[in-house]
Amino acid sequence: MVIREDNLKFQGARRRMVEKLRVRLTEEGLIDEKVMEAMMKVPRHVFFESAFDTGFAYENTAFKIGAGQTISHPHTVAVQSALLEVKKRQKVLEIGTGSGYQAAILMELGVKLFSIERQKELYDKVVRFLPAMGYRPKLFYGDGYIGMPSYAPYDRCVVTAAAPYIPDPLVDQLAPGGILVIPVGDGEVQDMIRIIKNQDGSTKTEQYGQFSFVPMLKKTAR
Ligand code: SAH
Repeated sequence: MVIREDNLKFQGARRRMVEKLRVRLTEEGLIDEKVMEAMMKVPRHVFFESAFDTGFAYENTAFKIGAGQTISHPHTVAVQSALLEVKKRQKVLEIGTGSGYQAAILMELGVKLFSIERQKELYDKVVRFLPAMGYRPKLFYGDGYIGMPSYAPYDRCVVTAAAPYIPDPLVDQLAPGGILVIPVGDGEVQDMIRIIKNQDGSTKTEQYGQFSFVPMLKKTAR
């Protein structure tokens, strides 16, 4: 396991990434200063598979993280994190741990994070990597379509892969007042959907523009 060092060059690039995001998110009405602070803190370049890519780590693009998967664009991470409106100590379920970058941002926001990954290779990597970075999430190798009932209910749930439909178990496992953020669609682009669960269990659905994710697949892969 390589943990790449942070340095002034990376910090400068990160600051420029956050400044650009701040301008764009302000225009889009999705700016959350706490999320911007978290993104300034977490060194994105250490989550990449290839050292070759680290020079581009703070550009607004997706990158390979192994097993044919990608780390989400910084803008996508910022939007999903803002839509979640997390509060400290809330229980958050993430589907698609991937590189662990989105997980790290959420943990910087002070939440208790539970995250599921279906690719064994990525799970095996992140289960050592995040603790080595000083983060203590609960990680699972499994299929996010069924959520993680044993630790439910969750205050928040975020899906970081393109879901062809909204899996019922994820809505069921939300606490009253809970929020689910999920990109839905089976084409090239997906609609970012936010579902708010009311106190009486009914739900309200909102839509926040189009994004592009790798597909949410069924069952686990070795
Ligand atoms: N949050 C990640 C994004 C990784 S891309 C990050 O910050 O890096 C999406 C991830 O979702 C991939 O790693 C993919 O393997 C995973 N995934 C896809 N379908 C899944 C499912 N049904 N259950 C759990 N993880 C899934």
